Amino acid sequence: MTLRTSPFIGGNWFEGSPARTFPVTNPATGDALAHVQPASREDMRAAAAAAHRAFRETWGPMNPYARAALLHRVGDAIEKHADFIAGIESDDVGKPIFESKNIDVASAAATFHHFADAAIDLAGDLKPSPFNEVFDYTLREPLGVVGAIIPWNFPFLIAARKIASALAAGNTIVIKPATWAPLSTLLFGEIFLDAGMPAGVLNIVPGGGGDAGAVFSETPEIEEISFTGSTEIGTLLYGACAPRLKGCTLELGGKSPALVLPDCDIDETIAGTLFGAFLNQGECCCGLTRLIVHRDIYDRFVPRFVEATKAIPVGPPRDEATRMGPLVHPDHMNAVLGYLQSARDEGATILCGGERLTHGPLAKGNFLAPAVIADVTPAMRVWKEEIFGPAVVVTRGKDVDDMIAQANDTPYGLAASIWTTNVKAAHTLVRKIHAGTVWVNLHNFVFPGAPYGGYGASGVGTELGREGLLALTRPKNVMVSLFPEGFRWY
Ligand code: NAP
Repeated sequence: MTLRTSPFIGGNWFEGSPARTFPVTNPATGDALAHVQPASREDMRAAAAAAHRAFRETWGPMNPYARAALLHRVGDAIEKHADFIAGIESDDVGKPIFESKNIDVASAAATFHHFADAAIDLAGDLKPSPFNEVFDYTLREPLGVVGAIIPWNFPFLIAARKIASALAAGNTIVIKPATWAPLSTLLFGEIFLDAGMPAGVLNIVPGGGGDAGAVFSETPEIEEISFTGSTEIGTLLYGACAPRLKGCTLELGGKSPALVLPDCDIDETIAGTLFGAFLNQGECCCGLTRLIVHRDIYDRFVPRFVEATKAIPVGPPRDEATRMGPLVHPDHMNAVLGYLQSARDEGATILCGGERLTHGPLAKGNFLAPAVIADVTPAMRVWKEEIFGPAVVVTRGKDVDDMIAQANDTPYGLAASIWTTNVKAAHTLVRKIHAGTVWVNLHNFVFPGAPYGGYGASGVGTELGREGLLALTRPKNVMVSLFPEGFRWY
């Protein structure tokens, strides 16, 4: 497999002027990884037209069994090229190769296999009719062309989710990757060619977010926008879709809490909350950002959590032993450092980490020591805003009611976790948390069969699961007369 760095439209790699490119840098070294040719607005409109043609002529009319077979071939092609894809993802995003292989690429392949099977199980409904002479049923029809815009933190996996689910429902897609990490999404062009997918079913348009937002919301061929990214941009896009009555699914930011109860298994909880807080350098939408620890266990739990945080191996992403790599971009690293400084200025205590790491092979990268921040009040920025880096806030809960109030003290509602060995407490608490996903003794687990979506400022609509797949279709109700003499009124 080779890495191509231009738009992929109608089954072809775009041959345009190589003078117009933007650089993509390796966050571990600052070196240039590639120069990518952006799609212009005109190219994006051409991509929408190619997707629309494929929807009308090949993919839309195709039998679901044939679609399923092709989607399985995409999953197989991802598995065949897994090491290459994982390497590109780690180089581009900075995530440890251990994570790229075992989470991003493995889950992306599983997502295609899951939605391949779901494609042939996407049945309509037979409805009971109040008239014996009227037979009623509902078909689920695809929407048409989906315009997808994705962020830089899990580009290959998020692209896989959007592409696989849209295609399984019978739609075609135009996808725009983030400028900071576009490379693994571009690999899907080669993967689709390798799998023998029909031209135009998938179109990839690297380029400016503003251009994609304008073209996707204005182009009539695009029926639905599927956005994953910040609440700020999602809100803009929602506004742009409204006057055109265009559908828009938004998977946005989060400020997810974990509630640690006194009867938790402390070893399991430290291991699980560490994964929740620091997976992917903490650049994780549903990541654990607010650790709310009951006061009866706080003094036993927090020092051990801090020691475990200090022991996370931070290093070059291609090193198999690394469990935390650099942040995606110097601008983002500086934003995270700004949050840490705001915590100090506002009177919080940094229990560990929070400084830039520049020793040995880390000298030129965006590496930070993972941080734990204590003595935080609800007025502080680090309590209220999404840091999106390796920094978790820890607070003391007076009692369970106080912990629930703290957990829900946010406009976001993406995810939360509860840590306890008491089954009754866990299931009672689940219902009191304002979030689209609640884990019990787990954090950061997402898989294609389980619906995923945020409450409040964390989003609109659902992805994944049967709910997410149905959201990419619309119902068509059909009524058939069985009246022996036809229906007569006059
Ligand atoms: P972002 O700044 O909102 O960018 C996301 C995407 O939107 C990028 O492709 C970006 O393109 C594009 N964009 C920028 N301006 C746009 C505009 N005016 N119209 C349309 N698209 C535009 O977010 P990010 O910094 O990449 O990602 C981090 C955010 O994503 C966090 O808030 C995180 O919580 C959220 N996230 C949510 C989920 C979820 O499932 N809920 C998953 C992952 C991440 P450019 O790169 O070219 O600017």
